[in-house]
Amino acid sequence: MDGIAHIPNSDPGGSAEPSLGTRFLVFAQPPYVQGYEKPELVWLSPGAGQILAGPADKYMYVADPVEPKQPYAYPVLPPYPGALRPPAEPGPDGHFDHIGPDSPLFLATHSFACARRVLDICENYVGREISWFFEPTLARLEIVPHIVDWDNSQSGFGFLELGEGEPGKDTTCFALNFDAIAHEMGHLVLLSELGILQGDGAGTEFFSYHEAIADFISLIGLLHFDTALDRILRRTAGDLLVNNELDRFAELSDEKQVRNFNNSLRLSDVSDDVHDHSKPFAGCLFDCMVEIYQRLLFERGLSDIDPRRYSNLRQQMAPDLIEASLQASKSSYELKHFASKAALQEARDIIGECVVRSWAYLEPDNLTFEMAAEAMLATAEQGRARPYLTQMEDCMRWREILW
Ligand SMILES: [Zn+2]
Repeated sequence: MDGIAHIPNSDPGGSAEPSLGTRFLVFAQPPYVQGYEKPELVWLSPGAGQILAGPADKYMYVADPVEPKQPYAYPVLPPYPGALRPPAEPGPDGHFDHIGPDSPLFLATHSFACARRVLDICENYVGREISWFFEPTLARLEIVPHIVDWDNSQSGFGFLELGEGEPGKDTTCFALNFDAIAHEMGHLVLLSELGILQGDGAGTEFFSYHEAIADFISLIGLLHFDTALDRILRRTAGDLLVNNELDRFAELSDEKQVRNFNNSLRLSDVSDDVHDHSKPFAGCLFDCMVEIYQRLLFERGLSDIDPRRYSNLRQQMAPDLIEASLQASKSSYELKHFASKAALQEARDIIGECVVRSWAYLEPDNLTFEMAAEAMLATAEQGRARPYLTQMEDCMRWREILW
């Protein structure tokens, strides 16, 4: 792409910093969720000038049809052939943060930024660029920001489509929903890195694994927003382990991702339904992250609870004692907030990296949860998750993923 030349240089004096990335406004949760009414400023990795009108870059572009469009279904695939609405244009500085929620172009910039942000995060974890599974048939992902009268979102061979149940109503607008977009991006990234099925997936846990990973990528994406980190930690006084054990984390959460993950389901508790069956694996990933986080807190003198001893402690401690210690930690939490936040970011990245890099060990056509868990442990052994191997293994056994 040679689009850089089209963007006027507003700063011929040379203080512009194109390599720093491109600014967009993104809602970490849909704006009707309490505490998330304002969008956050997010930097995408391509330098200012590398994201063109659309928005569009070398990975993805927004196509906003004039006529009502039906969701893609094989054999109808992108690119969309009909007339398109005018694209969202970058400002003179190459950024897109001049387009806010009141603009009719916001759904275009918002859906692009959410999708591109998730790709940035996954590429950071895998340590290289990710190539789409639909290349070279299609070079780029097409994002359709609103399909009217369609209360859903979907992704597939070269597309990511976002429905709008009732036009103009935020609660039905998937393009404003980071969770939904990140979930679909999770599917697309996993298909690209793990590969696609050659057979029909019978006898494997491929489809349930896909759902667990798509939800997990959505959670990891959420935990890259300051608003989400600050709110989750302050609400729980930084104690995710105890709140998790008391099944209170979900209750305390306005964030849908967190509610999805906070389950105490083991494999023997769930049916064969793809979504139901995915929950113990997703819950296990969440447990691993929380345990690593608590251990970092303990090692850094930020918490008295040693998660390696916690299972014993839990059996001895009555719920009212746990509650009392939680109240005590609340009063002193604010002085530990930034250090706790750094620990959660680190735990997030340790487990995120471990999951994404474990895909190199897996084959779609014989994928089971057990193999996926073993691939994570093998990855952990070679990377920065190594000190947490035993804890991760305990979580996997508790969920009946490993025996
Ligand atoms: Zn899904």
